[in-house]
Amino acid sequence: MKKEQILVTKSLLPSYERYCKMIQEIWNTHWLTNGGKLHESLREELKHRCSSECISLFTNGHLALETALASMDLKGEVITTPFTFASTTHAIVRNGLKPVFCDINPVDYTIDADKIEALITDQTCAIVPVHVYGNICDVEKIEKIAKKHHLKVIYDAAHAFNEKLGDENVANFGDISMFSFHATKVFNTIEGGALCYHDKSLISKIEELKNFGIKDPDTVDYIGGNAKMNEFQAAMGLCNLEILDSQIEARKKLYFYYRKLLADVKGVQLNKLYDYITYNYSYFPIVIQDEYGMSRDELIEKLNESNIFPRKYFYPLVSEMDCYKNFEKYDTPIALDISKRVLTLPLYPDLRKRKIKEICEIIKNCGGGNKL
Ligand SMILES: *Cc1c(COP(=O)(O)O)cnc(C)c1O
Repeated sequence: MKKEQILVTKSLLPSYERYCKMIQEIWNTHWLTNGGKLHESLREELKHRCSSECISLFTNGHLALETALASMDLKGEVITTPFTFASTTHAIVRNGLKPVFCDINPVDYTIDADKIEALITDQTCAIVPVHVYGNICDVEKIEKIAKKHHLKVIYDAAHAFNEKLGDENVANFGDISMFSFHATKVFNTIEGGALCYHDKSLISKIEELKNFGIKDPDTVDYIGGNAKMNEFQAAMGLCNLEILDSQIEARKKLYFYYRKLLADVKGVQLNKLYDYITYNYSYFPIVIQDEYGMSRDELIEKLNESNIFPRKYFYPLVSEMDCYKNFEKYDTPIALDISKRVLTLPLYPDLRKRKIKEICEIIKNCGGGNKL
């Protein structure tokens, strides 16, 4: 029998029957997109779930982030992290803005808020931090810096849907937060995304910007793009929301099973957890230290031999990508080092515990430091 391939994630799907029932109404109305009924229902549900006053839905997270930046009329430099998916930096540059890369901290891999102020110039207009792996940034410190220097803060919260810091939903930090509902994320609308924000005066601008800048049939206010979420996406979102809590609960169990099995493996650094954060357990990153006795890439090969396919999230650093080779360089030694050592292990709700055990056994046995 061919051994089953274990990938880093597996997209969440509702039952086939549930989805069919949800989309049935579309055949009566023939209303496929442009703010249909399912779109509006999903928006209401998400408003409650995120405790957010204003939510705009998008066809994907990337265009949501591009639109967020466009809505703020920014010019100049944006301080951001290079330890992220290419989308974050691309959204900045595609808005005609200059990315200024700030280093990350070595324990939860988010932007090092203590290094932001040194990068501020008279050209700085905004900060775009990332809640990477669902690790919530130092939002308080970032807010203080932003207030002091009159900067906008737009969070790339693509990994952090449904999370809380204390009692506050992660959607409510900064001026705008972007969530991705891509197939590989903890909650998906096939492709999809959202912006959450508090400033009601932004609603019409953001809603117009995602629909060619059109206000009404006689008025086009902005040179906008097209980034609307359609009814089939919204239907998937409504179905997946019904099962999300139980799916996160299942992830949590597996997450802590991994932690238990890897706790004593020399040279394998686990993600730091904070007790005041409610996580969504979407990723399981490990960092391979020198004392492990084998490199990250060698370990990947060993796992691949057993049909296990973890991912190098995030390698290469965005600032090291070919498309950014002519951009100004910034020194981010910690981000560079982590990008060469990090490995994201498979994690999804119906991953078998015995598979996790197998993965952890391989990791244990490959580590030279553990063969005493
Ligand atoms: C997934 C992701 C995005 C982009 O979201 P899409 O919905 O795929 O367009 C942006 N930033 C980060 C950090 C992501 O992981």
